[in-house]
Amino acid sequence: MTTHELWQAALGELELSLSKANYTTWFRNTFISAFDEGRIVVSVPNTFTKAWFEKKYHVAILKALQNVAKDGGVREVHYKVELKPTVPQDIGTPIGIPSAATPVAAASGADEEASETTKDFSLNPRYTFENFIVGKTNELAHAAALAVTEKPGRYNPLFVYGASGLGKTHLLQAIGHKMIAMNPRTKVLYVTCERFTNEFIHAVRNGRGKEFKDTYRNLDLLLVDDFQFISGKESTQEEFFHTFNALHQCNKQIILSSDRPPKAIPDIEQRLVSRCEWGMMVDVSAPELETRVAILESKCKEKHYEIPRDMLSLVASSVQSNVRELEGTLNKIIAYHQFKNIKPSMESIRELVSTMNSASGSKKNLTPKDLLDTVARYYDIPLPDLLGKCREKRLSFPRQIIMYLMREELNSSYPAIGKIIGGRDHTTAIHAFTKIKNDLKEDERLRHDLNLIRQRLYSAA
Ligand code: ADP
Ligand code: MG
Repeated sequence: MTTHELWQAALGELELSLSKANYTTWFRNTFISAFDEGRIVVSVPNTFTKAWFEKKYHVAILKALQNVAKDGGVREVHYKVELKPTVPQDIGTPIGIPSAATPVAAASGADEEASETTKDFSLNPRYTFENFIVGKTNELAHAAALAVTEKPGRYNPLFVYGASGLGKTHLLQAIGHKMIAMNPRTKVLYVTCERFTNEFIHAVRNGRGKEFKDTYRNLDLLLVDDFQFISGKESTQEEFFHTFNALHQCNKQIILSSDRPPKAIPDIEQRLVSRCEWGMMVDVSAPELETRVAILESKCKEKHYEIPRDMLSLVASSVQSNVRELEGTLNKIIAYHQFKNIKPSMESIRELVSTMNSASGSKKNLTPKDLLDTVARYYDIPLPDLLGKCREKRLSFPRQIIMYLMREELNSSYPAIGKIIGGRDHTTAIHAFTKIKNDLKEDERLRHDLNLIRQRLYSAA
């Protein structure tokens, strides 16, 4: 076995236990540069990766290498920063470097809470690193965001993805704040993808295309939120592509957020997908209970309102998959107690939480049809194919997901599930349910997918 083969085999093992984003982010451009008397040196492209390998992945890497090196000759692993000696990356159509920076008028940008934003940069003052609680499911995104502020242009672009309400906007804006704090002259622009699109269309219509280009191409930091909305917008994609290239070539930092990885955005040009994947991709997923409690504690502090930890824990267990909703619940609880002029107690909170849960009633409204449509759309497979007879894995897997979700979310009986899924036997439904349930224990990627699907189920219902 050559060192190349050894590393490929180890990567194969590692891939199984990591989310796609983590895997792509950390293991691209790594290789074994030395293997000598049981001592392996893994070369990595930058110090950030080196630190993470040492801190987070060392045990997994060592284990994977020991597993695949059958003679058991691997004793220790070290990491070294070194670039792979390969042909240079395609850097795309060369385009003119913007002329000497012209001062950009105070950057504009919008956010759902425009009234709360600071005038100059349209950044929400609450969305800072100080206010961002780090847990297992967002620590990578957080670390990457910080790394970007330390060395803009190095991990370019940074692409942050994950379901709605999990702190993507918060992180993007935190980066903006920090860069401005470090150098007030940094030209930062935060825009939603929709705003970018509208401004572009407006500019073209009014013959101000050049102004638009000048504004965007002279930035030091461009933050584009909800990038998935670029889907299907051809001319905007084209313009963004050139903006991207102009900034990237001057080593100006670009940060994108999206509710899904670039590849999963429908109707998007391949060249844009590959640009998005150039730098670092990181995902955020729903925080664990402990982190949710910490988030609630921090929000209480922000609002100068005190609720004991055990009560917050109760709130945190009632809202699991969306921090925005978690915060909304907390706000209602505070408002209720302030209005009644009483102190929160276990009883009052338990009661509020349970009425809010039943009032939202989302689970009740969900129909099998919603579920089928949502899963079909998520995997981008026509529904008749999903319900059909073909057993290709491409189809059978989403089919099993549907059966699993029908059981979990709708409490459907196995025979009923079988019937809806193209008239299958109830044993098929049982098998599908247990299989997905077991897969979930191991497969972080699958958990992430299911989270996203659930979010869509209930945001559509
Ligand atoms: P997204 O852009 O992913 O939909 P947001 O960034 O808008 O989510 O976050 C929704 C709300 O949840 C915001 O008020 C944000 O401050 C809060 N939030 C999300 N994650 C965290 C976190 N890790 N720490 C503190 N607040 C968070
Ligand atoms: Mg957002």
